[in-house]
Amino acid sequence: MKLPGWYPPILAYHRIHPQAGSDTPTLSPKIFDQQMRILSKRWKPISLPEMVSCLEGNRTLPYRAVAVTFDDGTDDNFTYAFPILAEHRIPATVFMIAGNLNRPGSLGAEQILKMRRAGIDFGSHTSHHAYLPSLPITQVREELAGSKESLERMGLSVDLLSYPAGGFSPEIVRAAKAAGYRAACTTNRGIRRFPVDRWTLRRITMHAKFTSPFGIWVRCCGYYGLNRRLRAPS
Ligand SMILES: [Zn+2]
Repeated sequence: MKLPGWYPPILAYHRIHPQAGSDTPTLSPKIFDQQMRILSKRWKPISLPEMVSCLEGNRTLPYRAVAVTFDDGTDDNFTYAFPILAEHRIPATVFMIAGNLNRPGSLGAEQILKMRRAGIDFGSHTSHHAYLPSLPITQVREELAGSKESLERMGLSVDLLSYPAGGFSPEIVRAAKAAGYRAACTTNRGIRRFPVDRWTLRRITMHAKFTSPFGIWVRCCGYYGLNRRLRAPS
């Protein structure tokens, strides 16, 4: 795998909603719009599959490449995030909890297909959002394969995975490969001294306080995470 000169920023979002969520990290549509405006003007947003191709060495990573991702697949991703992404022409990947499909508060099949037709990619966030390292490996395999299958039954092609709460182990990575995935995201942000591994792609959790071009730059360049890596991975 050809390594880029620096760790490419992959941004992690959850809910985009005017009202703060009780347990899910939530950004207001206004703040999200400000951040996407900055990305579209100052950065080069590319899709996560495109970024993985670059990391596999098939393509050169564009200057200032950045990828946008969402975890969980809550229905506000359609109502609030999708129109903003479309307005700024920013590609994104939504990691869907497959077992929540069509449930209240989560994306429905019709919304997913509309987003897919507009170029949004979908990945798996497992079937039941279980913390994989605490499951027996047979159940891990079922979570990984079952979620992929149920999303693909809708006509999507699903080869990207996001580990719930970022939890993985070497055995879980092997199970993800065996289930037919191509790459997987975790949550911990790394800076350039971490090797880039497409089975443990590190992401940057985006917060409401990053609304200036400089703030976004600091966050994306990894300096903001300097003290973070001194703590145990969470
Ligand atoms: Zn999640």
